[in-house]
Amino acid sequence: MTKNIAVIRGDGIGPEIVGEALKVLDKVAELYGHTFNYTDVDMGGCAIDKYGDPLPESELKKCIESDSVLLGAVGGDKWNDVPGHMRPEKGLLRLRAGMGVYSNNRPAKIWKQLSAASPLKKSIVDEGIDFIIVRELIGGIYFGEHKTEGDTAIDILKYNEAEIERIGRIGFETAQKRNKKLCSVEKSNVLDSSRLWKKVMHKLAEEYPDVELSDMLVDNCAMQIVKNPSQFDVIVTENMFGDILSDEASMITGSIGMIPSSSLGATSCGLYEPIHGSAPDIAGKDIANPIGTILSAAMMLRFSFDMAKEADAIENAVSAYLDAGYRTGDIMSEGMIKVGCKQCGELIAERIGI
Ligand code: NAD
Repeated sequence: MTKNIAVIRGDGIGPEIVGEALKVLDKVAELYGHTFNYTDVDMGGCAIDKYGDPLPESELKKCIESDSVLLGAVGGDKWNDVPGHMRPEKGLLRLRAGMGVYSNNRPAKIWKQLSAASPLKKSIVDEGIDFIIVRELIGGIYFGEHKTEGDTAIDILKYNEAEIERIGRIGFETAQKRNKKLCSVEKSNVLDSSRLWKKVMHKLAEEYPDVELSDMLVDNCAMQIVKNPSQFDVIVTENMFGDILSDEASMITGSIGMIPSSSLGATSCGLYEPIHGSAPDIAGKDIANPIGTILSAAMMLRFSFDMAKEADAIENAVSAYLDAGYRTGDIMSEGMIKVGCKQCGELIAERIGI
């Protein structure tokens, strides 16, 4: 298969971590007979320096025309004083809007080799943590009307059936590619929008008979994520609930450098990026952990290119690397072998397919 990937290296540690993810993708291409063509796209601070714009139209076009986008991270102190509309992060918002990605998918997975890094009790971690939160990204209370009248402030939470249905489909399809369990999270005991959410999810369930749908109130879900996270496979929820729950879920897994994410819209062209930022404090030192970006590339293969076995191969290689005792500084512990960013990428790439 041939796939065209837009590559945004970005700022800070971005170029370093993306370089390692490409190394891993190249190894997958070689072993599984695929061709990955990379098109470099300038976005963020580096684009401000080059064009005076964090994401010029010509760069956005390259992303929209690609089969998917792999992003490192953008931003840094150097651009702190530029006007708001010109900040590096504006490029990211423009990219998400331009690509029409309405679904943010963030896995919460604990690697057994790093279980000591979780703030949860060992007995809970030992049950396993491996689920994905599918969050609606461009609707709900963040995008409703906001106003303040005298001593009263109002924020409107609004969803229509079509908005719920399209994110619901992502939830069901994600579950189909995993363990076929979908938990729809809402607050239907109080909110009309949640009652509509629940109704649409159950109607959709008729089209996905292979997926087991359950409902959970958001307050209960917040408790269950720390009490019994192994019960979850895929959670689908609205924008604000997803924002809060996905941060809670990433905390229980340990290190920020390990977590990938994907954002998807109506087409298979997705945006894949680690959840961390450009880490200017460690940029250029070859000490960043590239695994969040490498796992983002694996998500791209699984969710945009339908390459499940290739994605499994990357995840297995990361696991084998951790088994062998290698650690970048952020996840280093006693008795382990300290490696840099480049070496981490190489050690994972050489474990693909073995
Ligand atoms: P950050 O995530 O960049 O860094 C937080 C801490 O985690 C730092 O100590 C950093 O060294 C460490 N860290 C992050 N990623 C790591 C990795 N892969 N390996 C090892 N350690 C890692 O957050 P911040 O310092 O608040 O933000 C720095 C810049 O990144 C800011 O300009 C911010 O706006 C931007 N940012 C960009 C994105 C994005 O591009 N999607 C997301 C968040 C923040």
